[in-house]
Amino acid sequence: GGKEPVLELRGISVSYGSITAVRDLSLEVYPGEIVTLIGSNGAGKSTTLRTISGLLRPRTGDVVFEGNSITGVPGHEVVKRGICHSPEGRKIFQRMTVSENLDLGAFTRKDKEKIAEDRENVLELFPRLRERIDQKAGTMSGGEQQMLAVARALLGNPRVLLLDEPSMGLAPVLVDVIFETIERIRQQGVTVLLVEQNALAALEIADYAYVLESGTLSLQGPAAQLLDDPSVTAAYLGGH
Ligand code: ATP
Repeated sequence: GGKEPVLELRGISVSYGSITAVRDLSLEVYPGEIVTLIGSNGAGKSTTLRTISGLLRPRTGDVVFEGNSITGVPGHEVVKRGICHSPEGRKIFQRMTVSENLDLGAFTRKDKEKIAEDRENVLELFPRLRERIDQKAGTMSGGEQQMLAVARALLGNPRVLLLDEPSMGLAPVLVDVIFETIERIRQQGVTVLLVEQNALAALEIADYAYVLESGTLSLQGPAAQLLDDPSVTAAYLGGH
């Protein structure tokens, strides 16, 4: 057979109390791909990422990484195994500097030389962060904080990077910068699972896409095919 998926969800359902946020979701991410998970507000996208990264436990189903179940494995252990999560919004350490936030991204690692190399690499990817290395994260703009969230996740040296709406609240020019950076991250050999409300931008860089509607998978296919699908363009791309 061909390549095995690096990451797989097998029929996961995730609930918050009596509310089921994700229902019987299966998906596959192959090594070197950018896969996007799109859908409107409350569709269950962030819940899916939180389940993969061990912050939530699915009620049913399995999360499989490199052929092994990681269902119920705690978050710090998931990071160690090679999955890092860049959360939505401003969930960086606001009172710490850029530099301190980056250090925390590497907290599970002991390979000092490689950490220094990776730090240099992310500062090349995000020159804005180098300029602001000693600035308190909470005083940076929304876009700069998003960049820091992605950079911090990269310092965990992931094989799979989970990105939760990296373009949220960004000016169009910064959206372009962040999506170009995601492509460069993939070129460096990192597999990317990208959650986005900006479906157009996500489909343009992704290989494969899954569409969630109210917690249920409604559509999947090669990203280029979804870009040409009138039902997708009507629902998620404003009819363009
Ligand atoms: P958005 O794009 O708006 O962030 P999303 O697709 O990421 O949406 P989720 O954040 O996964 O959606 O939320 C899915 C559903 O789960 C929503 O109905 C939400 O209200 C609910 N939900 C999320 N977090 C919790 C929580 N901590 N407690 C209860 N319900 C929650």
